Amino acid sequence: MAGPPPKPWPTGKVERLEPLVRRILAPNAGPYTYTGTETYLVGDDDRIAVIDPGPDDPRHIAALTEAIGDAQVAAIMCTHTHRDHSPASRPLAAATGAPIVGCAPLVLDDSGPRADASFDRHYAPDRVLEDGEAMTGPGWTLTAVATPGHTSNHLCFALEQSGALFTGDHVMGWSTSVVVPPDGDMGAYMASLDRLYARAGEGGDRVYYPAHGPQIDNPRQLVRGMIGHRRQRENQILRILREGPHAAADFVPRMYKGLDPRLTGAAEMSVTAHLLDLERRGMVARTGDIWSVS
Ligand SMILES: [Zn+2]
Repeated sequence: MAGPPPKPWPTGKVERLEPLVRRILAPNAGPYTYTGTETYLVGDDDRIAVIDPGPDDPRHIAALTEAIGDAQVAAIMCTHTHRDHSPASRPLAAATGAPIVGCAPLVLDDSGPRADASFDRHYAPDRVLEDGEAMTGPGWTLTAVATPGHTSNHLCFALEQSGALFTGDHVMGWSTSVVVPPDGDMGAYMASLDRLYARAGEGGDRVYYPAHGPQIDNPRQLVRGMIGHRRQRENQILRILREGPHAAADFVPRMYKGLDPRLTGAAEMSVTAHLLDLERRGMVARTGDIWSVS
């Protein structure tokens, strides 16, 4: 997890990335959001879709409504319901009359304070897109690609006309995705990486636009690297466990050198996500908080 690049960042400015795609950066930089959430506007200037409207911050909503101008908003689309992604859907829907379309609302087993801190519990879509279902407008089609793992309801959106894939928090160039159990699931995340790797083959996804950080021009190479990175983490965990039983927190200083101390909790969650996946596969066992090889 790298620190953000030096300022200035294009917060609140409209950047055109290709004929059908514009991007606006929200003012919510942080250790989990890099320079902030990137909201995408898709379509020509008449009838557009908004992807990942972002946090409910009046400055960002003002920048979005100004960029939208007189265009009709066909859909406000959310990749998942973390609080840096979906809360602006409500004020934006109120301002534009557009429906909220995309990922399903989450039903959380864990309703503790941590869940409240990161999940948008008020997200209320007008229409949920299942895997393979699409929203269309003049000259654009956005197809949902189910990619659970970072959250259980995560979707990517494929822009069929250009080969762009809006990857939300599933695949980003600046950092690996944070997988926090119980809603985050490492086995599902790995399967979703495999799915994107297969899609990015010959004639497949050409470019990724993640919700944080720069666009990714070499999707297949990046996803292959991420799959390798996760396997490496898994092997590290197994190696440490072969020396003796450990609690999840014990792994962090050995596996994450030079980690931003604010991310220690996230790193421990990520280790736990790997351990739970290994447990499901019968490779490790747990007694209380202590893990061992089985
Ligand atoms: Zn997220």
